[in-house]
Amino acid sequence: MSISEKQTIKCPACGEISDLTVWESITVGDSPDLKADLLAGKINIFHCACGQKALFPSPILYTDDEKRLVISFSPQTDNAEKLKLFEEIKKSSEKSGELEIYTDYNLRFVTSYNELLEKILIFDNNLDDKVLEVIKLLVLSQESDKMPQRACIFGKCDGGAIEFLVTDSKENQVYTSRVPRETYDTIEAQLRQSGVKFKSFNWEMIDAEFASSLLRGRNNTL
Ligand SMILES: [Zn+2]
Repeated sequence: MSISEKQTIKCPACGEISDLTVWESITVGDSPDLKADLLAGKINIFHCACGQKALFPSPILYTDDEKRLVISFSPQTDNAEKLKLFEEIKKSSEKSGELEIYTDYNLRFVTSYNELLEKILIFDNNLDDKVLEVIKLLVLSQESDKMPQRACIFGKCDGGAIEFLVTDSKENQVYTSRVPRETYDTIEAQLRQSGVKFKSFNWEMIDAEFASSLLRGRNNTL
């Protein structure tokens, strides 16, 4: 069920008071329009008449039963806090027994809005983020000296290729990188072979760190 509440917000720039509908839970089956708003970057984003725009720092639980996907989004930029939140959500889900409902689901924990939108798009394209995180790392490592200044996100999947957007913060540039679909299929098969599960049994954080630990642990298999 999609759940929201009204919040009164004071604009940090001009002090104007306005109301914002803050969504705590979005269930795609009941509210496809809310999903469209989320993908358009309109959910929980505060817009002031003065032009100020900011994310209201509140968690969102996103459920897509058709795609068997649940994403728990808790805005957080601090890495230590992020890990703490991740442990908390795992513990409370284990305690409540709710994981049993989600035995054939993918459960994801994310801390940035962009990551939330990226995951939705990935599963909408019938792709898996575990494979894509590995490919993203391989794309970035083509120019390993520039890795610290670059970020790679999933763009789209069309015809025989998957397109990634590589943002370079130092050069102030966005590059596109296309990877053949066969690469995806090969990596997926290799991950399956090495024991990676494509269903969750608990919340998972699937990010660059996940991919690099996979590559570190399985040297020479990819
Ligand atoms: Zn304002």
